Amino acid sequence: MHPLTQLERGLAQLDAQHLRRRRRIVDTPCTPHIKADGKPTLAFASNDYLGLAAHPAVVAALIEGARRYGAGSGASHLISGHSRAHAQLEEALAEFMAPHLVEPRALYFCTGYMANLATISALAGKDAEVFSEALNHASLIDGARLSRANVKVYPHGDVAALAALLEASQAETKLIVTDGVFSMDGDIGPLPALLALAEKHCAWLIVDDAHGFGVLGENGRGVFEHFAMRSPNLVIIGTLGKAAGVGGAFVAAHATVIEWLVNRARPYIFTTAAAPAQAHALLTSLALIRGDEGRARRTHLQALIAQLRDSLDLQHWQHIASPTAVQPVILGENAAALHAAAGLAEAGLWVPAIRPPTVPAGTSRLRISLSAAHTAGDVATLASAVNRLDRDWTGTRHG
Ligand SMILES: *Cc1c(COP(=O)(O)O)cnc(C)c1O
Repeated sequence: MHPLTQLERGLAQLDAQHLRRRRRIVDTPCTPHIKADGKPTLAFASNDYLGLAAHPAVVAALIEGARRYGAGSGASHLISGHSRAHAQLEEALAEFMAPHLVEPRALYFCTGYMANLATISALAGKDAEVFSEALNHASLIDGARLSRANVKVYPHGDVAALAALLEASQAETKLIVTDGVFSMDGDIGPLPALLALAEKHCAWLIVDDAHGFGVLGENGRGVFEHFAMRSPNLVIIGTLGKAAGVGGAFVAAHATVIEWLVNRARPYIFTTAAAPAQAHALLTSLALIRGDEGRARRTHLQALIAQLRDSLDLQHWQHIASPTAVQPVILGENAAALHAAAGLAEAGLWVPAIRPPTVPAGTSRLRISLSAAHTAGDVATLASAVNRLDRDWTGTRHG
């Protein structure tokens, strides 16, 4: 069979399972009121949780960064691409996350996906054991695969199961790997219990707080601040394309961990550094996150989360009210989630339908994501549209 025919059959199979992915084209900056595929749309789809992606101060800093440093870095960090802007951002991030670490240092990455590949593969050799939470993000799973370590998956939130696996482990190097806030459920992992296990078993606790950074904690330091955690065993990963509104990611940990990554992490070493302008813009994002404006945005976001919880009134679907900006409504079947998302799109609303492999089979859902850029009126519009679709729901064949 020609390899093209193989692909065509594969795509036809995705269609049959309602798993085909399509992209919409957005003509406007990332705000709640956008133009998508030419139509005005109220979006609950981005991870721009604080509304910084189009913030005038951040945009101005990106422009200023480009004037100062040019468009591109020109090389990897270890050759000649490590600019003053990258260094300043790393210092600011290390200082910001210092309450949670011992001898803190931070490392900036082009993307969170690469930060996760780099961290897990560099800390876990092939003789290591990686204890991976069942609902971990794909990039953590891929990092464990890249490491060629022995991977043990423990059930979602199951501290006792993890403890039993650690007790049984003979490995010299152990890594516990988890999302801080789970990306598709919005719930917060049992991190203090995980940290106690990590310290007891001389293991690393690697926490990817892509959805908590900027959102949780009085100052926006995420799940670590939420739980007031501090440990030399802690390896913090935060992404900077979500609440921080720009792009890239960071690892913050003991200085020795960072020195090891700089020397050994292939996804860090063998890639061109992100544009220095991006790092320059992130200095402004970080100042906003940790300042009064960030605090006010987090307070507003929490009010919207409470409003959504109080105003959704569902008979057929299940809203999982989470304490974070990620608010899933579970429908189950892939076709049902697509059908519901299409119904919302007809009403001018964009809520993505999330299907396997992003979530487990049978748990396809609408993933509502709230942002401090939304208004109470935006959330009221969404809640009444979701309530109406749910009330009139007769399954996927109808309509
Ligand atoms: C988005 C996300 C990533 C990837 O980060 P990027 O910067 O988008 O590559 C990693 N982990 C989690 C939990 C995420 O949600």
